[in-house]
Amino acid sequence: MGNDADVAITERTFPLGRDSFDPATGPTEWLWRRVMDVLRTEGEQIAARPVSAPVDLGRLRSAVGAYDFGEPAEPDVVIDELVALLRECTVHTTHPRYFGLFNPTPTLLGVVGETLAAAFNPQMAAWSHAPAAVEIENHLLRFLGGRMGYAAGQVAGSFTSGGAEANLTAVLLALTRMWPEYGTAGLRALPGRPVLYASSESHLAWLKIAHATGIGRDAVRLVPVDAGLRMDLERLKAQLDADRDAGDHPFMVVGTAGTTGAGVIDPLPELAELCREFGIRFHVDAAYGGAAALSDRLRGALTGIEQAHSITVDAHKWLSVPMGAGALLCTDGEGLAETFRVSTSYMPTDIPDTVDPYTSSQQWSRRFMGLKLFLSLAVAGRSGYAEQLERDAELADVLRRRLVDSGWLITNDTPLPVVCFADPEAEALSAGESWERHSALARSVVQSGRAWISPVRLNGRAALRACVISHRTTPEDIDELLNAVNDAHRAARPTTPESGKSEAARGRITDGDLPD
Ligand SMILES: *Cc1c(COP(=O)(O)O)cnc(C)c1O
Repeated sequence: MGNDADVAITERTFPLGRDSFDPATGPTEWLWRRVMDVLRTEGEQIAARPVSAPVDLGRLRSAVGAYDFGEPAEPDVVIDELVALLRECTVHTTHPRYFGLFNPTPTLLGVVGETLAAAFNPQMAAWSHAPAAVEIENHLLRFLGGRMGYAAGQVAGSFTSGGAEANLTAVLLALTRMWPEYGTAGLRALPGRPVLYASSESHLAWLKIAHATGIGRDAVRLVPVDAGLRMDLERLKAQLDADRDAGDHPFMVVGTAGTTGAGVIDPLPELAELCREFGIRFHVDAAYGGAAALSDRLRGALTGIEQAHSITVDAHKWLSVPMGAGALLCTDGEGLAETFRVSTSYMPTDIPDTVDPYTSSQQWSRRFMGLKLFLSLAVAGRSGYAEQLERDAELADVLRRRLVDSGWLITNDTPLPVVCFADPEAEALSAGESWERHSALARSVVQSGRAWISPVRLNGRAALRACVISHRTTPEDIDELLNAVNDAHRAARPTTPESGKSEAARGRITDGDLPD
């Protein structure tokens, strides 16, 4: 493409797809500058934009549908159009007032890592194709495992697309370890039905996993929680006994360390003990909360996690790297090899003292997920991460105090920055009415564009949920959230005098702003 190198960019000719997909040097740099402009504008403007806006589905579909891919298009034009769509039709998880699910504002180094991983595109299936990338990921797994409390030198595991795949891996490993015949002869070779236990507040990926592994959705026991939304140990024990008596085969208990709804941590040491007693597997789903292990101040909340046979932790949640990056950690490299072993003539052969990732994890060809975390961690340092995590926890404490001062009820108890709060006036309503009331409040806040929060049902009881998840969130953003929910509450105030006057008098939400 020699001549194309001289093409003036102003002619809007992008010499792509002649000899290869590679453009000439000049247009390449020009294209990257366009991308950098987008990133800069996003960073500068995001806080001033609404967190989300209503979507015109018809307009969105026709804008996307206008592309029939028949003829080449100019990249700057396509990028501008697609960026405009992304700006308009996205809940902006990169916004400082996105107080939503565990979707972070990615670190800059995470975005850079994602870009470099895409550009080098190492094939992660075989060690020999990607020695640097595999060793970088293994080093990270050992670091994370060490912070969880696993003994140095024993950590095994793999990077996954996210928490759901890591949890799937844990179940496959557990089934393989409990019943060696599972891998070859399948579930029908088992002496009875395998049963898995997680709390009713756990992440429902467990149902999909039960479906996919063939144990079936009915084999998941969603154990009731106690008043603190933690798995009820007595109920768990009774269920284990009852299932054994009925001829079923309990094989794994899941402790959730940071429930998705309320950020609550199950009683991990007690669960570990009970699993030992029953001779079954213990897995901790710390997809969100596992990040706390990076802070010396917060990691105590995870005590007991080191006794788990396996741990799920997501880098794309509280560790703030772009999606998707999760990890399964364990100390049973042999078990992973047993679960995922396979050999082919076309894959490169083993190299001593190394493991080919495709023989010890679910995926085959795989993206280099670890780079974005490695870069983020190396540049911020663990100390930088610890400070950020602790700052989030402190902002959540401030939010709780100010919500209480405004008359809201806090309905969850966790050291993690997930704040669930309810309108005390809704306590007298039926569960359905209370859900409607809280859903309407969340909708009102979201529609204002000032913040993004969601309604949540905790053990059947409705509340609002705000999670401090963006590293961009400041105390001023907490103020704005508080004002937005108080305004929503005031606007929704029934005009007729409400019943339960004494409750209302005690729990009335403050109108307007509070002094600091
Ligand atoms: C998010 C989450 C999952 C699922 O993880 P993905 O990364 O979305 O696949 C599983 N468990 C818990 C507790 C979660 O918060």
